Amino acid sequence: MKRRFAWFALFATLPAATFILATVWQFSDEYQAAANQGGVIPMLAAFAALTSIYALVLGLLLALAGRREKELTKEANVYLTAGQEAARSKHELERRVDFLTAAREMMLVLREELEFGAIAKKVLGLVAQAAGTPDTGLVAIHLVADEKLQLRAVWREGDAVTEPAKLARAKVDGSIAGEAFTGRRLISRDDGAVLRFAIPITADRETIGALQVEIPQEGDEKERAAFAKRLESELHELMNFVALAIKTPDLYERTIRDGMTKLFTKRHFSNQLHHHEAIARRHSEPLALIMVDVDHFKNVNDTYGHLTGDMVLKEVAKIVKESIRSSNEAYRYGGEELGVLCPETTAEQAAALAERLRKKLEAKTIQGETKKLSVTASFGVAEWSADMKVPEELVSRADEALYVAKKSGRNQVQSWKAGALEAVKAAESAKGVGAGKSH
Ligand code: GH3
Ligand code: MG
Ligand code: MG
Repeated sequence: MKRRFAWFALFATLPAATFILATVWQFSDEYQAAANQGGVIPMLAAFAALTSIYALVLGLLLALAGRREKELTKEANVYLTAGQEAARSKHELERRVDFLTAAREMMLVLREELEFGAIAKKVLGLVAQAAGTPDTGLVAIHLVADEKLQLRAVWREGDAVTEPAKLARAKVDGSIAGEAFTGRRLISRDDGAVLRFAIPITADRETIGALQVEIPQEGDEKERAAFAKRLESELHELMNFVALAIKTPDLYERTIRDGMTKLFTKRHFSNQLHHHEAIARRHSEPLALIMVDVDHFKNVNDTYGHLTGDMVLKEVAKIVKESIRSSNEAYRYGGEELGVLCPETTAEQAAALAERLRKKLEAKTIQGETKKLSVTASFGVAEWSADMKVPEELVSRADEALYVAKKSGRNQVQSWKAGALEAVKAAESAKGVGAGKSH
């Protein structure tokens, strides 16, 4: 600032001083004398020379200043671009943090939840968040089942839906998901108002479904294209987590299902028994258990071989699974012993169900390894009662009823009755047979 003022003072004073000197000199005696002697011209020439030098210096300085200005503008531009770059990087970083947070949250969900509906809801919410469309867009998970791509979960305008009945009414056009699934590649479309994406979901090198994302997007074509490109790469990355999250219920299913019969395992039965007992106690609802044991199964193995034995077991399990309501759960309790846990069911209702199962099995011709055969089974039914100290008492009672069914001639249903087991045992010892083995 000071330097600029000095320059200004110099430029202003020099011509002013020259002008004043020239004016004052005009009225001086020397001028008059010089004029009289014709010496004015050299004086004026001296002034002209002075002004030329002055103009030259001024021009030089201006040229220098111009060059400096150019340099400064260039420098300023560099800083400006760097500033814009920094702002863009910051935005990118923020998005990246959001994205990684979503991925991390997904991992946490996996540790907490093992049920598909709960996981799907979280996944949808997180994808919507990562895609920057938590309230307005649509995210849909389509998974393959029975060779067909089926809509399994939808997130629309902040609401998640996973229940089959509601999904049927969700009216999602999943054609883009179908394309991504069959083509095994990301599909991206822009109709000017909505950006649409579909990405195949791949787990263990197997394509298990497709994720569909729709985002209403404003802005010009260039901006939209840039946004779409960025989102595509993010969705690719997110897909690994999504696939894992969706696969997890399958892993869980495998841990609670028996490999051969695909019925729930005994370990899962113990957990569920406690769970359902707690509900029954809290809401004073009935809870029944049916124990099923194939009759003379050892003979099947001995006569037709172990492989046929396995085929028979699978068939028995299939009949049971197909015949019970979805609220009932079938377990492989032991080798050829199955259990059916029936919430909100009385002993009477459970006995009726057991009778249906018994008849179905009796009527069924099962294809063995080499020959067709048929088997029967015995059923023991018991109902939970509030005076039971531990839920395992329900199992003991159903077991006792099964024992009675076996001892009473097999291929029948017996409901637990107080004293029935003792009566059967007493009859046995009276016959001199002894207590023997149960089933
Ligand atoms: P009961 O009518 O008294 O129940 O006679 P059972 O022969 O069915 O009874 P037991 O308990 O003596 O025999 C059960 C047989 O089931 C013995 C075992 O080898 C067979 N078993 C258990 N698990 C399997 C399996 O996974 N596959 C096959 N093939 N056999 C099995
Ligand atoms: Mg048996
Ligand atoms: Mg047995």
